[in-house]
Amino acid sequence: MGAINREWHAAHRMPTKPTPEPRGEWHAEHQDECACRVPSEKETALIAAWRQARPSR
Ligand SMILES: [Zn+2]
Repeated sequence: MGAINREWHAAHRMPTKPTPEPRGEWHAEHQDECACRVPSEKETALIAAWRQARPSR
């Protein structure tokens, strides 16, 4: 179990709409800012797709 970044979670609610882009963004930033859980295979794919769509950050 990793540490929960409570401030990040308070500022970044998980999007409820089932569209891939905001979910990819959420998981990508979550992976950078917090280590409370390991992303699933589907979440890892969302992260990769989002990072490819937005390479300059
Ligand atoms: Zn977290």
